[in-house]
Amino acid sequence: MVAAGFLLLVLAAARWRENGPGTLVWLASFLAMFVIRLPYSIRNRKNAIVEAHKGPDEVILLFAMFATMMLLPLAHLATGCFAFADYALPGGVVAAGAFLQIPFLILFWRAHADLGRNWSPGLEVRQDHTLVTHGIYRRIRHPMYAAIWLSALAQPLLIQNWIAGFLVLPAFAAMWIIRVPREEAMLRRRFAQAWDGYCLRAGRVFPKFGTSAGRDG
Ligand code: SAH
Repeated sequence: MVAAGFLLLVLAAARWRENGPGTLVWLASFLAMFVIRLPYSIRNRKNAIVEAHKGPDEVILLFAMFATMMLLPLAHLATGCFAFADYALPGGVVAAGAFLQIPFLILFWRAHADLGRNWSPGLEVRQDHTLVTHGIYRRIRHPMYAAIWLSALAQPLLIQNWIAGFLVLPAFAAMWIIRVPREEAMLRRRFAQAWDGYCLRAGRVFPKFGTSAGRDG
């Protein structure tokens, strides 16, 4: 699977002239995202899971994100298979998409670093799970999802194709609408008043300022 992904990545980079310079920016960010996440994926496998919510809708949402964020863009950039669904935007739009990669990668990296052993791709509570309220989590409750919002907004600008570029937006909107209330309910059950106090100090996706941010973790 990793080898196939790597092959697609190389083919996609080789076709950058056909695909446009924005796709090179997308590929570089994709690689950076992979490098940021990999150590946590490997390390966190060892931390036992004590609560998991893996209903069919969760599985569909995760698969939709995997398909629209990774599989479809890589397949299209490597082969041009969805060329019939291309659109063209003005040149400045690619620069805007490229600029969004900066806050995206910073938020993505800091969210992984601060969640540390508590991170998991699904809705899960780990053994000795702690409530993280420091670092990037001090003022925002969902910095990783904020990062993915930025990436999802930039993707249709960098990959100008309805299937390989645009589809990630509705996929992530569905993920956001369905998953965030479940994740928050799960954390409220687990951390009770500590979670409620944290919600008063930190916004969901936009930082909350003007309240004293403490450390409950
Ligand atoms: N929604 C967060 C984290 C996404 S990763 C963000 O956008 O940054 C998903 C996992 O993170 C969930 O399974 C949950 O157990 C865990 N999680 C989310 N917020 C947390 C917090 N403040 N402290 C500890 N774990 C958290």
